[in-house]
Amino acid sequence: MICSNLEIINGVLHFGGRNTVELASKYGSPIYVMDEQTIRRNCRKYTVAMKKYFGDNAKAFYASKACCFKKIYSIIESEGVCADVVSPGEIYTAKSAGFNMNNVCFHSNSKNDFDINFAMDNGVGCFAVDNIEELEAINAFAGERGIKQKILFRVTPGIDTHTYEAVNTGKVDSKFGFPIETGAAMAITKTALAMDNIDLAGFHCHVGSQLFDSDVFVRSAEIMLQFIADVKAETGYEARELDLGGGYGVRYTENDPEIDIEDNIRQVAEYVKKLCRELNLNEPAIRMEPGRSIVADAGITLYKVGNVKRIDGYKNYVAIDGGMGDNPRYALYESEYTVVAADKADEPCDFLCDLVGRFCESGDIIQPRIKLPETVARGDLVAVLTTGAYNYSMASNYNRIPKLPVVMINGDDDYIAVKGETLEDLIRNDV
Ligand SMILES: *Cc1c(COP(=O)(O)O)cnc(C)c1O
Repeated sequence: MICSNLEIINGVLHFGGRNTVELASKYGSPIYVMDEQTIRRNCRKYTVAMKKYFGDNAKAFYASKACCFKKIYSIIESEGVCADVVSPGEIYTAKSAGFNMNNVCFHSNSKNDFDINFAMDNGVGCFAVDNIEELEAINAFAGERGIKQKILFRVTPGIDTHTYEAVNTGKVDSKFGFPIETGAAMAITKTALAMDNIDLAGFHCHVGSQLFDSDVFVRSAEIMLQFIADVKAETGYEARELDLGGGYGVRYTENDPEIDIEDNIRQVAEYVKKLCRELNLNEPAIRMEPGRSIVADAGITLYKVGNVKRIDGYKNYVAIDGGMGDNPRYALYESEYTVVAADKADEPCDFLCDLVGRFCESGDIIQPRIKLPETVARGDLVAVLTTGAYNYSMASNYNRIPKLPVVMINGDDDYIAVKGETLEDLIRNDV
């Protein structure tokens, strides 16, 4: 199995030690199932390794967009993990969960005045600032409150994650952040240093996602530290924090490599230490922002088969009771997933088919060209694995289909972390 929290016992898929058929009969289908223990284990990979190799000031920030609901915040907070947010909705969710808002960093490339004031009113600790308009608004609103707002600048180091090459153009043309290469990052730094109500803590970058080795982090650390050294030489200001972003990958299929997060963090830390010595810099407090690698393998989705359509001489479809409304990732980026016949997990899989959803789009495909048992039939339970990240958080009400519940398991315990939407919920805001 692609993750150690999965096993097959007597032909039934077990997740987090729990029988998926029993979970589906207790909570119905379709449902998201998330394992609290896996989330905690993933958090600890970061907190333990970052403390060990980067020191006590290092902090992991969970990227909320991967999966955001109240319970997630209490779980990660109890593991000593901070949070990144990108909207008033995520701020409100964290605050409602009782999260320490000083440990929250507000991202987004387009924060309007309401967003900025909402974040300040709720005591958000730090802003990752993306553009000059936002900087000016934050300076003004902080002035009205008589505070100095802590910020980081999001800068683009110019790394193309596809080739792992630092290139001059590449991501310089990103919609996010200030490019170093054009001089924009240096210029905005000088502007901020002259502002009365801004406390510039340092710099942030985030170069990619689903990355399987530390190479790209090492390269971005190199560019960022050189930039910090250049800023120090030109202005005398030395950044106290450096955020290297998120992006470590997870296993969606057997073809994805397994990643040793601790060893990767060790490699990045060694490089950061060496470079700081060479550049004569104090080691900045390092921040990382894992999203996917905290929650993806902590989630699976359970569906029931509705029908099996054999179009002889062409192809076969297995249609389920969910689809792109609860998991749009194949439709969006042709993402790969592993699919298991959860109640027939011991049977040979010789039936080639597309796993498709119930939504009114031909593109409503969860995964094409998968193999299920020949006996697959209406009522069978199907599990799609590694759905804990960017599934619930990307869900929609297309076709007025209610959003699924999130069932959390924790050892022998299980509970509803997010209720499924009802039909009444769907018309709540209709007038
Ligand atoms: C999306 C995002 C992350 C998390 O990325 P993952 O691939 O889920 O780890 C971290 N930081 C920023 C700024 C992001 O936009």
